[in-house]
Amino acid sequence: MTKTNAVKNVVIAGGGTAGWMAAAALAKLVGNNINITLVESDDIGTVGVGEATIPPIRTFHKLLGINEQAFMKATQASFKLGISFENWGDENTHYIHSFGATGKECWAGEFHHFWLQGKALGINNPFGDYCYELQAAKAGKFAFNQQNPINYAYHMDATRYAQFLREFSEPLGVKRIEGKIQKVVKNPKTGHIESLILNNGEHINGDFFIDCTGFRGLLIEQALHTGYEDWSHLLPCNSAIAVQTKSTSETVLPLTRSIAHKSGWQWRIPLQNRVGNGLVYCSQYMDDEQAKALLLSNIEGEALTEPRIIKFKTGRRLKGWNKNCLALGLASGFVEPLESTSIHLIMSGIIRFMRLFPFNGITNHAIDEYNKQLKSEIENIRDFIVLHYKVTNRDDSEFWQHCNAMEVPKTLQHKIDLFKQTGRVFLDDGDIFRVDSWVQVMLGQGIEPNQHHLIASMMSDEELTRFLHGIKQQIEQRVSQLPSHHEFLKQYCPA
Ligand code: FAD
Repeated sequence: MTKTNAVKNVVIAGGGTAGWMAAAALAKLVGNNINITLVESDDIGTVGVGEATIPPIRTFHKLLGINEQAFMKATQASFKLGISFENWGDENTHYIHSFGATGKECWAGEFHHFWLQGKALGINNPFGDYCYELQAAKAGKFAFNQQNPINYAYHMDATRYAQFLREFSEPLGVKRIEGKIQKVVKNPKTGHIESLILNNGEHINGDFFIDCTGFRGLLIEQALHTGYEDWSHLLPCNSAIAVQTKSTSETVLPLTRSIAHKSGWQWRIPLQNRVGNGLVYCSQYMDDEQAKALLLSNIEGEALTEPRIIKFKTGRRLKGWNKNCLALGLASGFVEPLESTSIHLIMSGIIRFMRLFPFNGITNHAIDEYNKQLKSEIENIRDFIVLHYKVTNRDDSEFWQHCNAMEVPKTLQHKIDLFKQTGRVFLDDGDIFRVDSWVQVMLGQGIEPNQHHLIASMMSDEELTRFLHGIKQQIEQRVSQLPSHHEFLKQYCPA
């Protein structure tokens, strides 16, 4: 068993979202026991995208004691209740994957069995009519109070978020060094990283290093040669082009929009003062010039930035933790931004690492446990995202024909087949998306299950009709009492 000396000096390489999230969490939660140094290069800059999140980010902020209103003001944030998927199942179809629970479930089966039973009786209301968050999102409304809890996340400005976390971390003792890392020095015997050498010749020594250098993976890959599992055969998009625009209306919808195109999809993320837009595409079917033209012809409002192209390869680093180096953020892999899961993976990586923190030395068992949990989490996210590409009636371009024909992981194929044949969904270990999410997306993408659980037939037809009607009516009433999202932002956290 390998065991090294106590970890006292932690060096974080990179100051994007990943670097500053790691710095903030380490400083706040274990800062009394360690020294933290963060190196970043203003010349290199950050990837500058990554503005939509999922609800567990609120738990992360609570853990750190971050004030929500201060965070939202500083990052021009808006609330997010889900993602609107347009033209995915078919051209001209539309569904919302919301963060809320749909209907009410019982021990034998989830709400969608009751909904399917209702459908068989001729009650044809959309599944989304039974979800509070989804209806609030559609109506452009938002508020929270103790009586009516609402499950939400944020849209935020990525650059401002890193700045906000820097201002949070430095008073807690994080030492920031501006400079370009030129060399990574390893111990010739153990292969562990000993220091980083900057372009001004400065040496930064450490016991443990966190690689947050983005796609470069300067430490985890260029120095440690950890290896990468390529998922391009499942997630073929490998390029994005991003541009920010002025908001065109006072209304800020609490929704990310994801609009499918012939060779990829477009995002629209509304912040308080501007909108983030981008096109994710596959270079095999669309070149950069075509992508730029397509994006610019589909944005609303004046462009505030020059369109910027970002190249990536979907996949995962074979080990998120290798020797005395942990990779977080884009350095650890990239699934695809379709379900806004990358910032979540940074957060869960940090929390997993803190739970295994090698105060008294690094052991192989801790490394293996970290990597096992990460693999399971990221593979489940991959499956959920591949689902959107695979289950679709679109075949109107070579891109969609490729997606139709591709073989998907057995784990995903089983979930799709089980739902098609029986209407059942069961989660795997490490699944961050709940049954509700799987059902919303599978129905939304066009699956019609052949069967459902007959628990719902324990009710008489009248009882079931009353039950479904009651939920729908209660949601309509709750939504009608909400203020607009825009009004709520103006009084809660104006930027
Ligand atoms: P970066 O932001 O690239 O930061 C790298 C840091 O390393 C920088 O500070 C840089 O200066 C430093 N660095 C690099 N090399 C050196 C060097 N030699 N010396 C010193 N410093 C160095 N995630 C979401 O959760 N939601 C989304 O909606 C979302 N959308 C995305 C859309 C696209 C098109 C892409 C590509 C990604 C998206 N992501 C999204 C992912 C998200 O952008 C990243 O997870 C997040 O920004 C973290 O990036 P990072 O900190 O790992 O890397």
